Amino acid sequence: MLDPFNLLLLTAALCIVMLFVLGSLIRSGIPGIRQWVAANGLAFVALLLYATRGIGPAFLSIEVANTVFALAIAAVLAGFRKFFGRPIPSKMLIGGLIYVAAGISVFHYGVESMTARIVVVSIFHAATCLFVGLTIFQSIGTAKSRYSYFFTGGAALLFAFAHVFRGFVYGIGADALSFSFQSTGWNVLFFSIGTLVLPILTMGAVMMVHDTMMAKAVDAANRDFLTGTWSRRAFLEFAEHEVSRARRTGRVFSLLLLDIDYFKNINDTFGHAVGDRVLVDIAARVRKEIRTVDCLSRIGGEEFAVLLPETSHSAALLVGERLRAALDQQISANIAGNKSGNPVRYSASIGVGTMQEGESFSELMQRTDIALYAAKASGRNAVFSTSKVVPASSSPDMAKA
Ligand code: GH3
Ligand code: MG
Ligand code: MG
Repeated sequence: MLDPFNLLLLTAALCIVMLFVLGSLIRSGIPGIRQWVAANGLAFVALLLYATRGIGPAFLSIEVANTVFALAIAAVLAGFRKFFGRPIPSKMLIGGLIYVAAGISVFHYGVESMTARIVVVSIFHAATCLFVGLTIFQSIGTAKSRYSYFFTGGAALLFAFAHVFRGFVYGIGADALSFSFQSTGWNVLFFSIGTLVLPILTMGAVMMVHDTMMAKAVDAANRDFLTGTWSRRAFLEFAEHEVSRARRTGRVFSLLLLDIDYFKNINDTFGHAVGDRVLVDIAARVRKEIRTVDCLSRIGGEEFAVLLPETSHSAALLVGERLRAALDQQISANIAGNKSGNPVRYSASIGVGTMQEGESFSELMQRTDIALYAAKASGRNAVFSTSKVVPASSSPDMAKA
């Protein structure tokens, strides 16, 4: 039969299990995990101390156990605040812990009242769980997968409510509920509320950490490590979406292919590190010039592509010219790795193409690449359009934008 004493030991064991699970996640570097590890360690100690009730000194199973358990719950909240990059309300938590320690002592050594002690503890736990729940629901907008957020936030709010209920039931002086290790229905229920809060919130935290790790891995696979722009693979996926959307809606999209001029010279003159820095600089400047719906990718070494959804050819030419001007740059010599001390000059050539009916994306890429090649041939630092391009094999009659 499940009695409160066994439940205490079982939950203590569960805390240790969760501690090991969390331990395996520390390597991920995701904030909050250390606080949750500490919380489970503290809860384990507190639950064992509770279990010494009637065997060891009352001070340990009452004052110390309750304060350590409150500290564990506070650490859970601190973990969630860290996880979301929000400030930890340290003063409030310290105040809360002093309130628990003082309240417990007053109703132990001053006016002996078990029910009053339970009310004191329930208020602290209810407030902390409420804070955890609100912290999670406030951040739900940024979540990739909401399941774990709803589970954990929902559990925290449910525990907050349950603690209010527990405090209320004891507060109205239901003497029949007086504390004991007897396995009455109420005792088991209130013990469960009081002790399971930690492993359950930790389980939710682990789910949220997994979601974050998964989102990070997907993002890393879809992004270029150096510039943070979309990878070629993600770009092609995005393009396929745009092709079907354009076919469905009849609204065309445009493509810009951008290649840095004489980039090899930059590497040779200033070093590879400066070349990398130029690539990062270019990505940042392009990002500033385009809309958030546009997709920027580094599709090759020093080649970028920008896909402009629902953009006509004439509008794309304007964007192309704006980018060319923004990338006609001389950046300061004060760059790590620039041994020459001279400023770094760079520019880019751009080809502009717009999807035509019945055309595949790779055909559009080929046409736009020819325009880019023409921009290079014209002397570089130029924008060329595909609009007047005749098939690649014939002599191309390019239109300079
Ligand atoms: P053009 O004006 O005709 O485009 O000349 P270019 O020198 O820019 O073109 P080319 O294709 O000859 O050289 C591209 C150079 O880009 C060669 C390669 O070493 C360099 N490169 C490719 N990827 C990277 C990178 O990630 N970092 C750095 N620093 N250089 C890179
Ligand atoms: Mg190139
Ligand atoms: Mg180049």
